[in-house]
Amino acid sequence: MIKPQRTIDELKELRLLTGNSDGAQRVCWTETWARARAWMRTKLAELPVTVEVDEAGNQWATLRGQSNQAMLIGGHIDSVPNGGWLDGCLNVVAGLEVLRRIAAEGTPPVTVRLVDWADEEGARFGRSLFGSSAVSGYMNPDELRLLKDKAGVSLPEALATYGVNLDQAKQAGKQLQNAAAYLELHIEQGPVLESLGLPLGVVLGTYGVERYAITFTGQSAHAGSTPMDKRRDALGAASKLHLEIREIGKRHGGVCTVGSVVTKPGIVTAVVGQCEITLDQRHLSAAGLAAMLNEAKAASERFAQEENVTVAWRRIWQIEPILFHPELIELCDAAIRETCGTVHHLPSGPLHDAAEVCRAGVPTIMLFVQSLRGLSHAKEEDTKEEHLLLAVEALDRLATKTMSWLQA
Ligand SMILES: [Zn+2]
Repeated sequence: MIKPQRTIDELKELRLLTGNSDGAQRVCWTETWARARAWMRTKLAELPVTVEVDEAGNQWATLRGQSNQAMLIGGHIDSVPNGGWLDGCLNVVAGLEVLRRIAAEGTPPVTVRLVDWADEEGARFGRSLFGSSAVSGYMNPDELRLLKDKAGVSLPEALATYGVNLDQAKQAGKQLQNAAAYLELHIEQGPVLESLGLPLGVVLGTYGVERYAITFTGQSAHAGSTPMDKRRDALGAASKLHLEIREIGKRHGGVCTVGSVVTKPGIVTAVVGQCEITLDQRHLSAAGLAAMLNEAKAASERFAQEENVTVAWRRIWQIEPILFHPELIELCDAAIRETCGTVHHLPSGPLHDAAEVCRAGVPTIMLFVQSLRGLSHAKEEDTKEEHLLLAVEALDRLATKTMSWLQA
């Protein structure tokens, strides 16, 4: 029998052990994080599982089944500094409860593994999804080698304290050898489910992202002596583009953001000669993302012409949309309906470890539980307890359905 209330009690226990009045303090590669993991190991010690930490620092608990084929349930016990009490640890603590329920019923038909990914948040070194990207093979150690924290400690040094060698981290990829399905529960961290009045949703995938710096170049000139029709105002073009990309986002059902505007010379008495803005565009479909990008590029050229300035684009970062498994989406939909009667399908704006596992080729699914006020990465992060109970129940149902699916 699954006992969802135990998950809530254990989350509170963990909060007491690793949080303070400012929130959760389980930043990866710190003593508090190690304490959280040791706490998890004492829970796992009561189960017929083997526990190991892989080359990338991910902690695995394995319940051997009749087949080597493995169903993975994942999450991350690390948090941002002053974080919430649910982001990441709900996933693993709920997974622990599901593992308990399955173990209590005897040897399962497939092997069941609970994984606590190392450094999902990247809070100390600015690089998120450390452990899961090592396992998926998408990590490039050379990009991480030189990263330092605020105190000047390098990432490889911090890893070594916890027995992880950066150059061997990708050997953890072998953990996915028999992986046949990956399940992850997470709080939504956004306002959608709350606005619909629904406790749970099926996640369709994670958004693809296109991130650019766009520079408009005109001519800086005296604010008093330059007539309005003689100006080459770089900010004029940037302003028009900012308003246009909001319409582009709405038209295509994606999200588009100008997050930064820097003007030169940036003084009150000069027309702006150069303006650099950043653009972040996100969409769940590759075609939608490409269309938004093309329209933004065309609009930037049109506005540059209108303002008699030039425009140049520089790519900062990009990732394709990652779509979860269609059959697992169906199973998850059914598990949620059976738990609370109604369901919603939604994309994930943030990336999650599930995205890495998915792009490594493992059939993957996530479910979201409602977040209050859409807040996360803050101590105010919260979810109604009645919704947490439903979330554990739905994850448990999904696990049962997935095991049957794997046997079919
Ligand atoms: Zn998280």
